[in-house]
Amino acid sequence: MRHDRFRSAVSPLRRDLAAQPAVLPPATLPSVDSLIAALRPEEPVHCLRPAVIAEAAAGFVASFPGDVLYAVKCNPEPAVLRAVWAGGVRHFDCASTAEVTLVRQMFPDAAIHFMHPVKARAAIRAAYATQGVRDFVLDSADELAKILQETGAPDDLGLFVRLALPPGGAVYDLSGKFGAAPEQAAELLRAVRPHAARVGLCFHVGSQCMDPAAWTRALALAGTVIAQAGVVVEVIDVGGGFPVRYPDLTPPPLADFMTAIATGFAALNLPGTRMWAEPGRALVAAGGSVVVQVQLRRGDALYLNDGVYGSLSDAGAPGFRFPARPLRRGDAPLAEFTLFGPTCDSVDRLRHTLALPADIAEGDWIEIGQLGAYGACLRTAFNGFDRARIAEVRDRPLLETTTRLAHVA
Ligand SMILES: *Cc1c(COP(=O)(O)O)cnc(C)c1O
Repeated sequence: MRHDRFRSAVSPLRRDLAAQPAVLPPATLPSVDSLIAALRPEEPVHCLRPAVIAEAAAGFVASFPGDVLYAVKCNPEPAVLRAVWAGGVRHFDCASTAEVTLVRQMFPDAAIHFMHPVKARAAIRAAYATQGVRDFVLDSADELAKILQETGAPDDLGLFVRLALPPGGAVYDLSGKFGAAPEQAAELLRAVRPHAARVGLCFHVGSQCMDPAAWTRALALAGTVIAQAGVVVEVIDVGGGFPVRYPDLTPPPLADFMTAIATGFAALNLPGTRMWAEPGRALVAAGGSVVVQVQLRRGDALYLNDGVYGSLSDAGAPGFRFPARPLRRGDAPLAEFTLFGPTCDSVDRLRHTLALPADIAEGDWIEIGQLGAYGACLRTAFNGFDRARIAEVRDRPLLETTTRLAHVA
């Protein structure tokens, strides 16, 4: 097995897409265990399970009553985008020129939507003029002016007003940064109407939102804003935030979220309005893991070759607990270990301890799961630890998605 078959996992958004074929698929192996046996990697390896991602995407597309946009920031790896596409997703929520360019290069027919409320002027210009993007989000009159100036105010724009939500239900509350307050959102709906071929109202309840009622409440607020604006709204975009399982977080089944959304939407009585959703985590979390290696053991502390400046950012300050599995044989009892990443920064440490075999030792590998979302894409080059590889595997993930559990039950 030649090691150069295992591509670097550096973000596709950092690759020079014109010079390098970003779409080259990674090597495929039957399982993580066979991958480790073949590669014996001293760098972290991102393991993708495209079949699992396609399955989650297809499940979401089948159950959401509207159009499904994949939130590209969550994992822009071309193999992941292909898997999401294979699952039936044809719309992409992009937030930067690099994301738009990558998706357009891979899928000439995809519908790309620019869903970031604050954009560089050059990004607006390039998206409209060269990448066929027609839908843009805004949460201020100033951003509307930018969009109209940079596109030349054509008659085919989709203009989406981002509504701010009060906090509630999400592990990651995003309410502080973007969104117009209800009164201001109503005003913006009126302001965009004369310039728009289609008007949308969108919101984001926050990431890993465990409470289906958060969408019902948000939809009720959206209804109030639309009524107050008194204009026709073609699209209500309910955003992302759909949760997945973690060892200490078991969300209700996806069906409960769909029911809450369908109920909340029906109550608005807007028969001419279509719904969109922008899931990220729910489509791709289960389909990615990272294999790390123990570089030193000191008592109950393990020093790993990946950490919070690499793919384990969410295990640091945000304190997500990820499923883990030692890639070694033996029947040693479990013990709790503190885990440190490779950089010299003392914050490079996982917030929770992990139960691992008591005799775990230098050189052992550990697979950490549910990292298809917000894993590889958050890698930095801090301290020079930016090297990682990527491969595809065909075995099942450490934790199944709630969608699949619902099918099995
Ligand atoms: C990040 C983001 C998403 C995706 O969120 P998930 O929690 O991964 O589903 C969707 N929409 C917007 C506007 C976002 O910023």
